[in-house]
Amino acid sequence: MSIGIRYNPGTTMPTIEENFSHVRKAIAAAEQRFGRAGGAVRLLAVSKGHPAETLRLAVERAGQREFGESQVQEALPKMAALSDHDLTWHFIGPIQSNKTRDIARHFQWAHGVDRVKIARRLDEQRPAEMPPLNVCIQVNASGEATKSGVAIAEVPALAEAIAHMPRLRLRGLMSIPAPLAEFSRQRDAFRQIREAQARLVARGWPLDTLSMGMSGDMEAAIAEGATIVRIGRALFGARPP
Ligand SMILES: *Cc1c(COP(=O)(O)O)cnc(C)c1O
Repeated sequence: MSIGIRYNPGTTMPTIEENFSHVRKAIAAAEQRFGRAGGAVRLLAVSKGHPAETLRLAVERAGQREFGESQVQEALPKMAALSDHDLTWHFIGPIQSNKTRDIARHFQWAHGVDRVKIARRLDEQRPAEMPPLNVCIQVNASGEATKSGVAIAEVPALAEAIAHMPRLRLRGLMSIPAPLAEFSRQRDAFRQIREAQARLVARGWPLDTLSMGMSGDMEAAIAEGATIVRIGRALFGARPP
């Protein structure tokens, strides 16, 4: 159960519009199959590695408004090139201390918060005239694909620290599980994140976001409550080297 990449050798490449339409239909189908409300899952287009002209096609031909980038120095020129459109930019990469200022000034969301120190810098550097920065705590449940992320047991303490940071708004949890082929195992990984979020909500946290699911495991994430899926390859094809 993977949406895969719709490319048939010998035929023409699908257009960006076709890719967006295909992925949006797959999201709607998964919402229905797993008893989620229609429109409960937002599509975040992961545009890292692709030039501003490609993003412009996604905006102007496919109506996409939310983009995910994982490198600040790559994202800033794209934001400038697309400043004629009102877009929402999500920083989805690991957050280094020397990048927090640019993230705080230019993005609306940061998904990879996994340390108090990074959260504090984002809070201090978020300009007063902007709304609070939306953040997700990145959770490293088990055997994740990256070293980033806090252990599940450490999520409440980090959430507590962020609660005292007025320029940040904690929206929920984010995860990048190791790529697994089997649907039931994909679901197991996402279930741990959903349960960690549910424990926070039960303690009174007004969280509304589970940022989880990529091109290879989107359906499993939706089955386990994802509210934002972060999709790159299925929308834009393979990333240029
Ligand atoms: C690259 C990336 C994605 C998108 O992955 P695809 O497999 O291209 O859909 C999602 N989330 C994060 C954090 C990424 O770095």
